[in-house]
Amino acid sequence: MRYTEFGNTGYRVSSLGFGAMNLPGVPLDQARDALNYALDQGINYIDTASAYRNSEEIIGSSISHRRKEYFLATKTNKRDYAAAKEEIEGSLRKMKTDHVDLLQLHYVNFVHEFKQMMGEGGAYEAALEAQREGKVRFIGITGHRPELLSRWVSKGQFDQVLFHLSLVQPFAAKELVPELIRQNMGRVVMKPLSGGFVQPVDKAIRYPFSQDVHVTISGMISVEQVKENIAAQAAEVSEAERLELEGLAEELGTHNCRRCNYCSCPIDIKIPDVMIASKVREKFGLLPKGMDFFSKQQEKLASCADYEPCKETPLCEQKCPYHLPMQRVMQESARILA
Ligand code: SF4
Ligand code: SF4
Repeated sequence: MRYTEFGNTGYRVSSLGFGAMNLPGVPLDQARDALNYALDQGINYIDTASAYRNSEEIIGSSISHRRKEYFLATKTNKRDYAAAKEEIEGSLRKMKTDHVDLLQLHYVNFVHEFKQMMGEGGAYEAALEAQREGKVRFIGITGHRPELLSRWVSKGQFDQVLFHLSLVQPFAAKELVPELIRQNMGRVVMKPLSGGFVQPVDKAIRYPFSQDVHVTISGMISVEQVKENIAAQAAEVSEAERLELEGLAEELGTHNCRRCNYCSCPIDIKIPDVMIASKVREKFGLLPKGMDFFSKQQEKLASCADYEPCKETPLCEQKCPYHLPMQRVMQESARILA
């Protein structure tokens, strides 16, 4: 396991972080075993969020007795002071601890949301207050728009950023990471498998490991998955491998979708997932979860071509800040799957 100084925090963190988002979907014994095994193996970064169903309770009941062994990161997606304050208190209670090491303002993708959180009466005030009271050590932010995050952190109000950096979403490497390095901020990446779609799994885990980041959060639900993730990071990345992974990321990232969710589809096509999966599906095929997703979307994708209100101008494309050809990709996917 590689350990690095975590930006300006003074902590040393493991390169692999335990993502606890999916723990609520498995039996409690299995979740407890996975968390404890991860700690036994030296993983010392645990990531969760108030929004992840009862993930915080599972952490509280499974590993709060080992609290000194891990850096604990949670998130609030509340936008105003009062709601965020209440949520922070709830997180502490659920995780049976008197402090979290990191509180992140969660899933901030819109300028108006950021302004609300940072303005008077916003969630950031609650985070600062909790920090003064010793309930929160550091404050971070998470989001899906690397170029906006880069601007938002430039005033030095945050210690860390959690962002996408995967074989299928490599954009932050150029749009965000340089600014985070300039400020020596904590750099944590999420979803190396893009929510369970992407293969080959070892390459997907090794791509962020090859980049200048501190922690890759991988969602894990079993001892076997912890072993698989640790094995994928066992060997250091050579220069040749790094170049190969970056080439692959460039190829698989040509869809250019940041998963910002500005778009929506009236017939409920999950546009970002289809966009992001399109290239990897062509090249490697998808993991079973990805195939299952496409079989459930098949009928809707087939309807895209006949959807009258989008005939002249696709409704989704009017909302995409990156001007992506979503209608064409949806219809190509429908043809491939037919
Ligand atoms: S073009 Fe297709 S994907 Fe886009 S909004 Fe219309 S129906 Fe949905
Ligand atoms: S298609 Fe465009 S608007 Fe939709 S999630 Fe991707 S980048 Fe955002």
